[in-house]
Amino acid sequence: MTELFAAVDLGGTTITCALGTAGGEIVARQTFAAETYRGPDSVLERIAECVAGLGKPVALGIGVPGLVDIPNGTTLFLPNLPTQWRNIPVAAWLKGRLGCSVSIMNDARVATLGELVFGAGRGVGTMLFFTLGTGIGGGVVIDGHLRLGPLGAAGELGHQTVVSDGPLCGCGNQGCLEAVASAPALIAEGVRAMRAGLAPHLNELTGGDASLISPRTMADSNDKAIRQAVERVGRYLGIGVSNLVSALAPDLVVFGGGMSGLGERLLAPVRAEVQKRVRMMPTDHLRIEISAMGEDAGIYGGIALAKGQEKWTTATNR
Ligand SMILES: [Zn+2]
Repeated sequence: MTELFAAVDLGGTTITCALGTAGGEIVARQTFAAETYRGPDSVLERIAECVAGLGKPVALGIGVPGLVDIPNGTTLFLPNLPTQWRNIPVAAWLKGRLGCSVSIMNDARVATLGELVFGAGRGVGTMLFFTLGTGIGGGVVIDGHLRLGPLGAAGELGHQTVVSDGPLCGCGNQGCLEAVASAPALIAEGVRAMRAGLAPHLNELTGGDASLISPRTMADSNDKAIRQAVERVGRYLGIGVSNLVSALAPDLVVFGGGMSGLGERLLAPVRAEVQKRVRMMPTDHLRIEISAMGEDAGIYGGIALAKGQEKWTTATNR
């Protein structure tokens, strides 16, 4: 019988559980509302039930939105979840229920692992991975290994400063990439432009309902103000990418997450910015791409994490 590995992607609004083979073939999956307001015990209970319902895995990998103690398998601080999950023994809890080994890691690092092991990162030496969504997460692969750093916190690519006196970020810093280039930042620009009468096409697409403005509807709009807003986000991303390219000379930059659906409209300004700003090294061979995994990088990464991350990651400690 084929060994199956379980992956869990714990998000603020939904949780996805999946079973896959060692080769990364997903054989079963289920997504349900996270209902995180019910607290960690309820969330973990429903995860255990869901995974058990899918089958019997030999190991499980789970990605969570925040800081974790990787060796001990506990969450330390999940800032966007109610009660913030301080010192919740997630791995021990799920192991007790499912009877298999459980590994835990930050969700953006797990997604990077997915891209590295099963996606565009296969065989690549050095790679940057950005998850573009409500926040901007990331991961850095150096010479084939995901850099974890203390608490697995290395790779917070969304919290590099790109505007010295820019808007306040959720992390406390000003002008982080996340504060100016995340989905909420882009949507806020769309709302502002529409209310100012600068986006008649977007107004038509959404029936004037600001709650329907999304990166998707903005991508469909042909208003000049909206095109400029998308391009500006791409330029900010390009600044962030340029900084990291100069530091690490990667072979590949990959964008995942919901906002990567903007596709070429996002990539073109990123590429232009890199060409303009990276002057000390050739960038002709640098590939800048949208992830083919869409929002599933976290699931593939969970499978890779369950299989054992030692081969793919650097050491971490508290
Ligand atoms: Zn920040």
